[in-house]
Amino acid sequence: STPLPGSGAATPMMEQFLEIKAANPDSLLFYRMGDFYELFFDDAEIASRALGIVLTKRGKHQGQDIPMCGVPIHAADDYLQKLIGLGHRVAVCEQIEDPAEAKKRGSKSVVKRDVVRVVTPGTITEDKLLAPAESNFLMALGRVKGGSDNAYALAWIELSTGIFRVAETSADNLLADIFRIDPRELVLPEPVFYDAELKPVFDLVGRVANPQPSSLFDSASAPGRIARFFEVATPDSFGTFSRAELSAISGVIAYVEKTQKAERPPLSRPEREQSGSTLFIDPATRANLELLRTTGGSRDGSLLKAIDRTVTGAGARLLADRLMSPLTDPRAIAQRLDSVAFFLAERRLIEALRACLKGVSDMPRALTRLALNRGGPRDLGALRSGFEAALAIRALFAEVEVSAEVSEALEAISALPVAFAEHLTGALDDDLPLLKRDGGFVRAGYNVELDEMRALRDESRRVIAGMERDLIEETGIRSLKIRHNNVLGYYIEVTANHQAIMNGSDEAKARFIHRQTMANAMRFTTTELAEMETKIANAADRALAIELAAFDRLVAEAVGEAETIRAGAAALASLDVSAALAVLATSENWCRPVVDDSLAFEIVGGRHPVVEQSLRAAGENAFVANDCDLSPEGSAKAGAIWLLTGPNMGGKSTFLRQNALIAILAQMGSFVPAASAHIGVVDRLFSRVGASDDLARGRSTFMVEMVETAAILNQAGERALVILDEIGRGTATFDGLSIAWAAVEYLHEKNRCRAIFATHFHEMTALAEKLQRLSNVTMRVKEWEGDVVFLHEVGKGAADRSYGVQVARLAGLPDAVVQRAKDVLHQLEAGETSGKADRLVDDLPLFSAAMKKEPPAPAKVDVVGAALAALNLDEMTPRQAMEELYRLKELA
Ligand code: ADP
Repeated sequence: STPLPGSGAATPMMEQFLEIKAANPDSLLFYRMGDFYELFFDDAEIASRALGIVLTKRGKHQGQDIPMCGVPIHAADDYLQKLIGLGHRVAVCEQIEDPAEAKKRGSKSVVKRDVVRVVTPGTITEDKLLAPAESNFLMALGRVKGGSDNAYALAWIELSTGIFRVAETSADNLLADIFRIDPRELVLPEPVFYDAELKPVFDLVGRVANPQPSSLFDSASAPGRIARFFEVATPDSFGTFSRAELSAISGVIAYVEKTQKAERPPLSRPEREQSGSTLFIDPATRANLELLRTTGGSRDGSLLKAIDRTVTGAGARLLADRLMSPLTDPRAIAQRLDSVAFFLAERRLIEALRACLKGVSDMPRALTRLALNRGGPRDLGALRSGFEAALAIRALFAEVEVSAEVSEALEAISALPVAFAEHLTGALDDDLPLLKRDGGFVRAGYNVELDEMRALRDESRRVIAGMERDLIEETGIRSLKIRHNNVLGYYIEVTANHQAIMNGSDEAKARFIHRQTMANAMRFTTTELAEMETKIANAADRALAIELAAFDRLVAEAVGEAETIRAGAAALASLDVSAALAVLATSENWCRPVVDDSLAFEIVGGRHPVVEQSLRAAGENAFVANDCDLSPEGSAKAGAIWLLTGPNMGGKSTFLRQNALIAILAQMGSFVPAASAHIGVVDRLFSRVGASDDLARGRSTFMVEMVETAAILNQAGERALVILDEIGRGTATFDGLSIAWAAVEYLHEKNRCRAIFATHFHEMTALAEKLQRLSNVTMRVKEWEGDVVFLHEVGKGAADRSYGVQVARLAGLPDAVVQRAKDVLHQLEAGETSGKADRLVDDLPLFSAAMKKEPPAPAKVDVVGAALAALNLDEMTPRQAMEELYRLKELA
């Protein structure tokens, strides 16, 4: 490729580059030069660092070296994948004319180039860049100012499959909704992104957020934009949308147009999601419960991984979607459960269905690539095999009474375009090349002219072989060959010592036309050979043209059937999910939950699916199943609260989480890991489990805990399920206990929701005397020869002690420390007076002193000293400090 010469004034090429770069400031520019995409200036520096490729220089700009790096075209996908994975956007700039054209305009003129596509995390379509089992959503946020209340809406699409949804939201629910859908890219109007009030939201969303000019989201021009995109007169035909929704839809479409340039992906019409139709799970709860990923970010160990038995990528994506958005309508939930039950009753169908499904490739993704002119023969092949599998699947269910959902799926499958399927089968060869450009994918017998051209081509090859035999005979040169290369085409080659025969006489010269002289060979042609050559080339050109035309026709047909193909594919995915959930229920011995409008929460023999499976994998003792009953009792109109105590490692967090997971599984329409389960629909699920450190954002663990607790206490209603683990641990004992105490009272009196509250503060068990719907439960342990044995069993009552020292011993603390800790604990306990609630404050300093790393070494226990040592002065207000002083005085 040509260097960028000179210094001083920009070269014409640099001028072109700078102009295109200026139009794409927020993307890395892949600038096509010959067989490379080259990057310049800052882009080059960013890309070379990110990709680990060499940074060099090319020419000068304004007297300075121009940093440059390049990636070869054939490996561009891999580099793109890496850059996109790191959150970059890449503008792909191609030569859009033949270099010969540019030459015609003059020696100085550069080949015309333009950006043909901007590759961004939310708009990728290549199989190589997409994970088969993960959705890849692009989301837009629309906001319409309205008096005191702004209206918000989210629209999200998956470009690769055409899914298009829209839902209203609010400033309060925004973050939760974004995390529920988990987009790869969120485009939003710049003023919204920079709105100080929303800063906490976009801080958490991180680099997924991509601010764009407001004009993309303008709700006034939205209807026109939407109508143009879908080629309809007005978007009203899709339903009525609020202005915020129109703004969000417009934002998505405008961004698609901005990144896809001339190509128009086949998106479904926007489908509205009813607000409140899904279980609200706030982002912290989602993270804590490790639904899609563990808190460490891996998929192994997540709930999804533990329950995924699907056999297709689309099925896996649908399962993840359902897991992220469990339902709140008991009828809709029952419909899904019916389908799982159906497969359990018709088990013989499961294996046959799954065998068929394994042959189904990702039809919507193939379709999108075809529509965007990025597809190849194998994408058509994917549609063909999908249709074939669909037919076989429909036949499987012919004589069976099916559930409503399965019946709906079968209808969608039956609606797949049979004529097009037959067309594909007739047109496509069995083995398909990756690229269409060389042809060779249309089946023999499909097109008469194509067959003729191919016959001519093959026939000509035989004719040429015959010519070679004749020429050997004619010339007597045994080593004469007819060969082919791309420069000369067909030619006759003889070794140099035979040249006299070929051009020794005028007669021979007239017959053998000289083409080329090599070191030891000479090359000739003849009139017949040249004629044959033209015939073959024409036949091949014509054959390729016929194939490409057939390809385009099939693509057009596919795009015309986009809607039915997508619906059929979605139906196959739903069958995959139902059957997979049946497989899971069988192999894991799960039961069908009863989900209704009550406020019940009664789990018998519940288990934690992930912990249970990992225990089994480790070959350890079986998981201990536990009951949980938070149902209202007697005349109470609200659910119960369980106060759970027990030592560290006793299984408290496991128990808390398993009940939340069972609710999620039930409402997503899955069977659940329990002997039986009765759940009154939960509308909001909150959990505050474990210390999720947020130090990177400069908030202490305690601050995060309080923010999350505040959110729960402010938002949980009577249908909520709340799981709280060790509230108040991150501060001084007095503070912590008081906060935990007050929080439980508030949950009981104000929120009146179903809740499990695990705590280290044994003092709190006294609350049961006062709060009617609160029960004490504890993780059972056994003491054996001074050791503690965890039974992992939840029983009525309260733990009488923490077993902290025993647990510490199990953890490998040096014997001397364990021994000393026991002594100290003994003495501290000896100083303890009574466990009555009204005396609880007296107990606290003792308790916290026992938990300190370096136990004080009192000959006689110094109660006041221990209490003092437990105070965290940095966390206290002057007023709290004053109160502590009074208490200390009382202790003395
Ligand atoms: P805690 O929250 O009380 O500290 P965890 O819930 O973290 O305790 O449980 C500690 C460990 O005990 C888990 O990693 C798990 O291996 C085991 N465990 C917990 N619950 C059970 C159970 N029901 N049956 C068997 N093992 C369990």
